[in-house]
Amino acid sequence: MKLCEFLRPASLPAAYGQLRDLGPRGMILAGGTALHFMQDHTPVTAVDITRLGLSGIRAEDGGYVIGATTPLADIQRYRAPRWAMHEICRRIATHQIRNVSTIGGNIARVFPWADMPVALLAMDASMRIYAGPDAPEETPSADEYFAEQPARRFLGGKILTSVRVPALLAHEGYGSVKVVRTAAAFSMVTVAAVLKLDPASGAIRAARVAAGSAIPFPRRLPEVEDALLGKEPNEALFLEAASKADAPWRGKEGMTAEYSKHLAEVSIADALADAARHALERAE
Ligand SMILES: Cc1cc2nc3c(=O)[nH]c(=O)nc-3n(C[C@H](O)[C@H](O)[C@H](O)COP(=O)(O)OP(=O)(O)OC[C@H]3O[C@@H](n4cnc5c(N)ncnc54)[C@H](O)[C@@H]3O)c2cc1C
Repeated sequence: MKLCEFLRPASLPAAYGQLRDLGPRGMILAGGTALHFMQDHTPVTAVDITRLGLSGIRAEDGGYVIGATTPLADIQRYRAPRWAMHEICRRIATHQIRNVSTIGGNIARVFPWADMPVALLAMDASMRIYAGPDAPEETPSADEYFAEQPARRFLGGKILTSVRVPALLAHEGYGSVKVVRTAAAFSMVTVAAVLKLDPASGAIRAARVAAGSAIPFPRRLPEVEDALLGKEPNEALFLEAASKADAPWRGKEGMTAEYSKHLAEVSIADALADAARHALERAE
């Protein structure tokens, strides 16, 4: 992108109006770190949304609402009961990048290496989208939102305003694995899982498992989830369930597709083991 002009609206309706009027010549700017990856040189006007009061994290109705312009570093530092989003954030890029990158920027245009979508799919998050002063707010679930590249949703001036992440319940645990070659490298595979255990039998009552990076676009793995339900959590089950993952694993950075699949299966099993351990610790 070639930034030719810079606007700093003072309200959501003003930002929406500017973006709608600009059409394809306008672009939302949050942290600005993704400009580096957008190689075309189309001249655009940047509409800065960082002064619209969309930053911060608050507890609300059994969950947490993360403002769209909240930097990843703030999510990494945040601590609260039944909260796990710091786990994935601490593994994204470097401190400097996390200080600037926002959650909204990470999930409004999903790059193949994006980690937040994987965690948000596992956590059953939902998004809040401002669609203009006369339209109702849109609140797609993570499953709906990540069913295709979300950037298409925002072409008409809509703005992602926040992300709602449910608090983990009793007997529910979260686990995630990100495999990288070096500390700040892009992910080779990212996996996240939430397991709910039955308090009486200890069996797996519910499971959400998602993967990204080693596949073209982040997605849930329902075949892994189905293989877990009603079973006693243990290492053998996790490996067996992981082997059911039916995703278009692709080779990259010197890895064959076959190795990518192996890495993903081992990572899924590890994320499930972490989630089960976490769930066992959380009796309340
Ligand atoms: C060197 C480097 C390494 C990185 N490594 C990783 C990594 O390993 N894992 C990872 O997950 N991320 C990584 N990132 C971050 C990621 O690639 C993006 O750069 C970042 O998440 C974008 O956030 P931003 O706030 O800077 O968004 P911006 O660059 O400001 O915007 C990104 C896109 O989203 C749109 N947008 C932004 N906010 C909104 C909104 N509220 N509503 C609608 N549209 C919006 C913009 O118009 C633009 O199209 C890395 C970044 C860099 C520079």
